[in-house]
Amino acid sequence: MHSVTKTIDFCYGHRLLNYEGQCKYLHGHNGILEIDVESTLLDDKGMVIDFTVIKQTVKTWIDSELDHRMILAKEDPLIPILKDAGQPIYIMDDNPTAENIARLVYEQVKSKGIEVKKIRLWETPTSYASYSESS
Ligand SMILES: [Zn+2]
Repeated sequence: MHSVTKTIDFCYGHRLLNYEGQCKYLHGHNGILEIDVESTLLDDKGMVIDFTVIKQTVKTWIDSELDHRMILAKEDPLIPILKDAGQPIYIMDDNPTAENIARLVYEQVKSKGIEVKKIRLWETPTSYASYSESS
């Protein structure tokens, strides 16, 4: 089995609802995404996938949807206030934990036709969440 991993970094803010602790307050992260793509066979160039293809496809989506935005749960009462203030936000169905953001990115990458195996989102230099469809 061959695999490649592309790293993409982005800045985001969030806060967690139904959570007692520092993360219930608005705060930000310099997140690092690791995108694993696997294949048993290589293409005619000898690649699993061109790193440039992952970068162009995924980074374009990250830059337009998540980078320098507040990522908030859809029931967060701050949404209308931040919208009125012209702040860029991204609304999720679920609490914007690293786990749920990793799954969101996984689903986006997969929807772009990339055979993604696993996504890791490093929220801090010592903490990451990962998502894949199989173990
Ligand atoms: Zn956080």
